[in-house]
Amino acid sequence: MRKSQAVAGVAGAGIVAAGGVAVTARADRPVRAALIAAAAGVAAWAAFAPRNPLFGRVAWRGSVTGERMAITFDDGPSESTPAILDALGDAGARATFFVLGRQARRFPDVIARMAREGHQIANHGDDHGILIFRGPGHVRRQLRLCERAVEDAAGPGAMSGLFRAPHGFRGPATWPAARAAGYRMAGWTTGVFDSAEPGVDVIVARCNPAMRPGSVLLLHDADGWAPERSRPQTAAALPGILALGRERGLEMVTMDELLGTAL
Ligand SMILES: [Zn+2]
Repeated sequence: MRKSQAVAGVAGAGIVAAGGVAVTARADRPVRAALIAAAAGVAAWAAFAPRNPLFGRVAWRGSVTGERMAITFDDGPSESTPAILDALGDAGARATFFVLGRQARRFPDVIARMAREGHQIANHGDDHGILIFRGPGHVRRQLRLCERAVEDAAGPGAMSGLFRAPHGFRGPATWPAARAAGYRMAGWTTGVFDSAEPGVDVIVARCNPAMRPGSVLLLHDADGWAPERSRPQTAAALPGILALGRERGLEMVTMDELLGTAL
């Protein structure tokens, strides 16, 4: 399911709920009508808001009193990822890559390099399908396929225990299924919409306010919907982003290191 389909689905559910409100309102039950409307609103908010705890707790930042933050990359690997690994290596920085199984099968050598260079490899599902309306079996299958692709490339244990749902969208089955499979759910503090390719300087400038202790910065090293596309602007922006962190004395660590035992 693509993003637009998920949005349409939740909008449809809202219309049905609104119909229910109209019917119950006619039945002179204003309290019940208001409750139905509120429940529909809360469910939509929980599904689309990546930090909302209603569908399970999500880790989205670390300690704000330390001197560490985490840079994360979603949807990869792609042809852009080696340049990203080069920039991280030059800066002595480590990052967390929420990879897709589909991309890991295309770029197994890049997955192996991530592991070798001390980065955290985390799960972003297999095909980037939206999970809002999916049951636990589907969620488990997405996790397992990605896990297998990563371990085929980088060996047993290469996949860490963090999962970030595509777009952060979650349904009622997402969190329980991920927890049962041994995962903690990851969110982010700041996204800069680098995936819209606004230009290298704009990406660096948008990251500026996010470079602070405890921050989890969301970037993209591939395109979740277009497997063939890479993210050259993000790769080119990364040295500038890392320089901002260095100016502020921030250490770039993996998300697991930033979170510790939270969640
Ligand atoms: Zn994604």
